[in-house]
Amino acid sequence: MVMLEEGLRKIIADLIGSAKNIAILTHTNPDGDAIGSSLALGLALKKKGIDARVVIPDGLPDFLRWLPGIELSTTFVYKKEKAIGIIEGADLIFCLDFNDPNRLNGFEEYLFKSKAKKILIDHHEDPVRFADITISETWRGSVGEMIYLFLKEIFEEDILDKDIATCLYVAIMTDTGNFNYASSYPEIFHVVGDLMKYDLEKDRIYSNVYDAFSEDRMRLLGYCLQEKMVVLPGYHTAYISINDEELKRFKHRKGDTEGIVNIPFSVKGVRFTALFIEKKDRIKVSFRSRGSFPVNRIAAEHYQGGGHTNAAGGDSFLSMEETLQFFESLLPAYAELLSEG
Ligand code: 5GP
Ligand code: MN
Repeated sequence: MVMLEEGLRKIIADLIGSAKNIAILTHTNPDGDAIGSSLALGLALKKKGIDARVVIPDGLPDFLRWLPGIELSTTFVYKKEKAIGIIEGADLIFCLDFNDPNRLNGFEEYLFKSKAKKILIDHHEDPVRFADITISETWRGSVGEMIYLFLKEIFEEDILDKDIATCLYVAIMTDTGNFNYASSYPEIFHVVGDLMKYDLEKDRIYSNVYDAFSEDRMRLLGYCLQEKMVVLPGYHTAYISINDEELKRFKHRKGDTEGIVNIPFSVKGVRFTALFIEKKDRIKVSFRSRGSFPVNRIAAEHYQGGGHTNAAGGDSFLSMEETLQFFESLLPAYAELLSEG
């Protein structure tokens, strides 16, 4: 199970070997894979005596704040000067878990200005070729798995430890919905099996990530299911919308709406779900599917977005009401695909 062919492995090992300051960048609205894989790489580089820093565009969700290595991270929107300084001072830059620089949500201009070599490690389809080295493996469930292989291959000694394994496991676990999707291949379980050897506290990690709802968040979920979920059995589709007033009513905090998009799959027959959340200037759209229905196609064709076959997103600039009408109006065109499952 080799990810890097020898020539490339050597080039990257030399780049790391001669770097003093390394910046690791990941995508806006960071999830468990973005943060887990970035911190794992950062912790490993630190062990090699490198000043490694992680820069994230915007806020961390609470359920990831306990992760080892979190002190390596700086949030661009909160500490702009510091974040820019890290990028300007870096002699090597890793970009993890995004396929388009616009996923840096505005701070890509500092990436472009930097003369440092850039290495992209990602699993999204159709990566934009902005980096000097692109490592793209779209069949992998997470970048966490790719960082596992990367660390095993780049460093001669075993650089992994309990903290790094914990970050990698969070990345793999969250991006596969706790091995619910994007994980039906043997190698992922070999990786997890090896992570277990580092005293991984698998059950505690699950609990830290998934049993971390605030009461308000739990009640928002209950409200969404009771009042807001629309099920369209003819199209195997269900969606939920949440407007600004509702977010305020349930004292919304970053990360509270995470995962809500997956819940309607528990309704028998539902293969396509959507979540619409009102933001200041747009409606953020999230799509998920089970089976072969390509939600990244809908996201790209109608919502200026993209993603994977089973998880994608984009934006709508209509009102909420019009957004929902428009969404329903799209479904007949996809009816055949949806019925195939
Ligand atoms: P989420 O629904 O959790 O925000 O995003 C799920 C996946 O869809 C992400 O991992 C990302 O690949 C993709 N995605 C979400 N929003 C956007 C977007 O606005 N543009 C693009 N290109 N991809 C997105
Ligand atoms: Mn990912």
